[in-house]
Amino acid sequence: MNHFHEQRGALWAEGVALCRIADEVGTPTYVYSRATLERHLGVVREAFASVPTVICYSVKANSTLAVLSLFAKGGAGFDIVSGGELARVLKAGGDAKKVVFSGVGKREDEMVAALRAGILMFNVESAEELALLDRVGRGLGVRAPFSLRVNPDVDAKTHRYIATGLKTSKFGVPFEEAVALYRASRRMKGLTAVGVDCHIGSQLTDARPVKEAITRVGGLYAELKAQGFPLTHLDVGGGLGVTYSSEKPPGVAAYARAVLSATKTLGATLVLEPGRVLVANAGVLLTRVLFRKQTPAKRFVIVDAGMNDLLRPALYEAHHDIVAVKPRRGAKATVEIVGPVCESSDVLGHARSLAPLQGGDLLAVKTAGAYGMSMASTYNSRQRPAEVLVDGDDYRVVRKREALEDLWRGETP
Ligand SMILES: *Cc1c(COP(=O)(O)O)cnc(C)c1O
Repeated sequence: MNHFHEQRGALWAEGVALCRIADEVGTPTYVYSRATLERHLGVVREAFASVPTVICYSVKANSTLAVLSLFAKGGAGFDIVSGGELARVLKAGGDAKKVVFSGVGKREDEMVAALRAGILMFNVESAEELALLDRVGRGLGVRAPFSLRVNPDVDAKTHRYIATGLKTSKFGVPFEEAVALYRASRRMKGLTAVGVDCHIGSQLTDARPVKEAITRVGGLYAELKAQGFPLTHLDVGGGLGVTYSSEKPPGVAAYARAVLSATKTLGATLVLEPGRVLVANAGVLLTRVLFRKQTPAKRFVIVDAGMNDLLRPALYEAHHDIVAVKPRRGAKATVEIVGPVCESSDVLGHARSLAPLQGGDLLAVKTAGAYGMSMASTYNSRQRPAEVLVDGDDYRVVRKREALEDLWRGETP
């Protein structure tokens, strides 16, 4: 469900025509719907209303301040993976007490910043990281609250770049080593164990591996409690998938049933780390057709957004539906929608059947709210896109298009 819809032969976001935004702000531009963002957060909150839950939005999916601020006002916490994300959360008015810090490579200065901010917990991914966190905690005269991210060794059945719960993955602590590490932490005066964590991957379209992983990790939680660890939080990670083309991921309610049935006897406060499911279909990338080009092999439509603006197709061979904002009449043709970047992988849409397009026509790349702008770069010295937040009949530019000077800020010729 989202608030992008057709009206009088054109595409709108809530009460604003996308043509108007393109005319006034230019392209490429990411457009988000506030109503969709708020609705998705509400759906997750509702689905878990029966148990104490902290919803920690995974910042890396979309770290734009306006999005963070909206979720902070909606009562969400945040799952961060760097000191930069912590700074963004605080800048956006997020509550540090609802922040969990994930990631395999936290630096000492990032740990210090997070401890000073007073975050909920660190999700620790190795014995050496645990030792460093202990040292940092003692240095500041506090006990750093932590969970171990354990690797439950289940196949999440997703793209190999975004599966994180297999034995071969760099993520998490092997399941068999977890208990020994928790025991060792008892002697470490800069630490206090508060929970157990897992996250098996992203764009999950099957609830079974989720349930299997959480059941294993829940078992560990119960075992540790029985051994006297005063644990309070079970972090079940994120990863719930969305529909880009024909995927049929479980809905939030079905996902919640799977999680709740695997955790109901534990008495733990649940920590959720949803990213994609909150933001993906709340955003589109608006782009304009520059040229058409027919070669003996293919028919190309060259647009003004490229892989630097939206990396997912090039990185994961990901599919995004692409539609004309004002479709023309005429027979459909199969085209390659490509960007201007000097890479053959700069293809936003492969073999798409679309009604006739001409230079100047507007296209919307759909379901682009997650891992879109947050992965954008300035490759080819292209200024990153503007971002717009639509709210009812109005909209606001929440990030200006980068200026040329932004491209070399901090550089010395
Ligand atoms: C990326 C990530 C998430 C969010 O994943 P989504 O697929 O966007 O829901 C949650 N937790 C951790 C540890 C992550 O790395």
